[in-house]
Amino acid sequence: MPTVIDELLETDGTARLLADRDRAFVARPTERIPVAVAGGEGATLIDADGRRLLDLTSGWNVANTGWNHPKVTEALLKQAAQMPFSPPWCTHDGRSRVAERLSDMLGGGYRALCGATGSEAVEAALKVARRATGRQAVVGFTEAYHGGTLGSMHAGGVPQLQGVDVPSTEFHRHAPIPDRLRANGRDYAELVRATLREQPAPAAILLEPIFTNPGVIAGDPEFYRAVQQTAREVGALVIIDEVGTGFGRTGHDFGFQHWDLDPDIVVVAKALTSGAVPMAGALMRDELSAAVSGPGFSSTFGWVPLACAAALASLDVMESEQLPARAAQLGTLAIDRLRPLIDAVPAVADVRGFGLELGIEFTDAAGDPFARPPMEELTSRLLRRGIFAEPSAYTSTLLLMPPLVIDEDVWTGALDAIAEEIVDMDRAGAWV
Ligand code: PMP
Repeated sequence: MPTVIDELLETDGTARLLADRDRAFVARPTERIPVAVAGGEGATLIDADGRRLLDLTSGWNVANTGWNHPKVTEALLKQAAQMPFSPPWCTHDGRSRVAERLSDMLGGGYRALCGATGSEAVEAALKVARRATGRQAVVGFTEAYHGGTLGSMHAGGVPQLQGVDVPSTEFHRHAPIPDRLRANGRDYAELVRATLREQPAPAAILLEPIFTNPGVIAGDPEFYRAVQQTAREVGALVIIDEVGTGFGRTGHDFGFQHWDLDPDIVVVAKALTSGAVPMAGALMRDELSAAVSGPGFSSTFGWVPLACAAALASLDVMESEQLPARAAQLGTLAIDRLRPLIDAVPAVADVRGFGLELGIEFTDAAGDPFARPPMEELTSRLLRRGIFAEPSAYTSTLLLMPPLVIDEDVWTGALDAIAEEIVDMDRAGAWV
């Protein structure tokens, strides 16, 4: 079945050729959006035929500073000419500087375990927690996503949604994600307490401070208090996955700063380098670093000089352009503008978010998530208007996560376009 982009691609050959070649040679997990990207600037992606798409995904919370920020590009070019990679057993100027800067952002007293991808850093955090506590069990949350490696998939609760048959292990158990719309009287704080107190005693609890992939789902303050206090009570470490929520996205440097959380390990990746070079870290309290020894903790591509140069430049941009504050302001603006949809369109169940991590959740008459078709129609309609946005997996929630540098007028224009399409679909009876 042709996709919207296929329709768009009829007009020219280059992007179509690339999409066809991709189909022939690349094993792709999704068929839906074969956009052939050739460039980008700010909040705009440019395809191989020069079409401009407003990107409301940030490449899954990567391009927080915008696509190809000139300061990041400049730092990359300089470092690439000098030394892009160094032997993993050597240190270099950038590595300790990034580590110190991240520790400072966390209030001091953290050390970095270096990796390249979010999944790898989640695994690293779990290894540290197991070594440090001498325990094996890990508490995660249903529907949470922490990566595509086996350990991170076990820790997250959505193997069936990830299309991979991951055998369960006795060491992983999951508390329900604090999904307010589907609470049915359940007390999520009490449930997480109970899960933490089960045997075998856990090495750690792993959570996103705001569960991004399931549809921007967050608990209430009591939920996070229960996580923190009960983890301490049972001797489990608190690991916060900031792979998607970190670096200004939610209106703070880190998402956990919305809550009364005091993490032992903070996992970062994605926006750390603005996506220019893969880079990820498990930032652990100083005392935990004694657990880091042996080749099982090394990573050939962890924090190479090129990545560190991109990270330092990205952190500078985040600070100088005050991106967390900007995210908070543009997020509030979006919620105010979109909230009226809840009353206007029966299928709109919720409009929620923190900073520029926003979701519009749709449910059918029974209160259940929609199957793909109406969500695909919505994203297709938006693509036709030059807007690129994606739905979440677990709930039928349209995710809005633009680069934090998005121009305010462009942002409000996009929000109005989204609202128009949702209302128009309602008039056309498409939300069934
Ligand atoms: N944690 C979270 C919350 C994520 O969203 C992702 C990726 N979407 C990961 C971990 C895994 O990161 P990566 O794809 O870089 O391995």
